[in-house]
Amino acid sequence: MSRGTRALISRSALKHNFAQVKLRAPSSRIWAVVKANAYGHGASAVARVLSEADGFAVSTFDEGIALRNDGISKPIILLEGVTDGSQLAEVARQRFHCVVHCREQVEQIASQSTTDPLIVWLKADTGMHRLGFSPSEVKAVRLQLQSFSHVELNGLMTHLACADDQAKNETTNAQVSQFQEITQSSDITSIGNSAGIIMNERWHGDWVRPGIMLYGASPVATKSAASLDLQAVMTFQSPVIAVRRIQRGEGAGYGHRWHAPRDSVIATLAAGYGDGYPRHAPDGTPVWLNGQIAPLVGRVSMDMLMIDVTDLAQVQVGDMAELWGEHLPVDQVASAIDTIGYELLTRLSGRVPLEFAD
Ligand SMILES: *Cc1c(COP(=O)(O)O)cnc(C)c1O
Repeated sequence: MSRGTRALISRSALKHNFAQVKLRAPSSRIWAVVKANAYGHGASAVARVLSEADGFAVSTFDEGIALRNDGISKPIILLEGVTDGSQLAEVARQRFHCVVHCREQVEQIASQSTTDPLIVWLKADTGMHRLGFSPSEVKAVRLQLQSFSHVELNGLMTHLACADDQAKNETTNAQVSQFQEITQSSDITSIGNSAGIIMNERWHGDWVRPGIMLYGASPVATKSAASLDLQAVMTFQSPVIAVRRIQRGEGAGYGHRWHAPRDSVIATLAAGYGDGYPRHAPDGTPVWLNGQIAPLVGRVSMDMLMIDVTDLAQVQVGDMAELWGEHLPVDQVASAIDTIGYELLTRLSGRVPLEFAD
């Protein structure tokens, strides 16, 4: 029997969030971003639920192959292209859409002819300064790519650096204007991530690339997932495996980081940093149990953590706590831990079974 710690994945929440993307970007096609094991939710299973997506976006060749091996036949885009030119033949054979963001990748394409056409997206760097060709290079690179008989240039894309921050709207608008200057009206374009989709319809393009919003977390610090009508897809649960009383002044956990300010009841849960719950979570980080919030106390261990349930009625061994999810937004936990929902979801460890439910 499993120890009870698990991540429930809600198919209906996933479909609901996908519908929210469609509502906000009705005229765009949708690359559902399932990189990093669908932000911890299980890439192939998520792709099967999102059967209405026009395609799936992953970061790496291996992630794309894993989806194909699990029978996902829709278009798949490799957001970073490939680093190893010898993979291009397989990229073409699998009909992966392949991002080309640097000179080295163009050279690999030039020296590797493929039997199947290689479907390519040219990535422009309009200000993120992470990947992509600078606007002044785009024209020449486009011509070069178009000169290869085995290449089918499908579209142009760019990535927004500050779309989640209204105070930086000017920066984002400048990125989008730059992109418009280097694209023609007949080009197929892709711009918006979740923040771009939510914040401004002019930041979408022909294909949007939602990730985090599909999983029901907010990409925008000032807007809650609920206010955006997004539903938590993952509910990370762990059972109470022990309950004890300690006296005022006693310490609990490694290093006695926390001392009881009053006589207290402590519940121990079967989840720790070995499951992906961050070790640096401070005292007071919220945990949900029996309809109430109980604060984390003491250092998170590898396999366990402790919560103060003094103010909760009748906590028993076997009660199921929620570390984040349906009752406790992952963004709220992330903010207490000084990180973002993306990181908590993505770092869920392989030890935690994913259980899909409607
Ligand atoms: C991860 C990623 C996305 C999705 O971003 P979210 O903020 O999760 O919506 C979109 N585009 C690119 C290039 C990415 O790397």
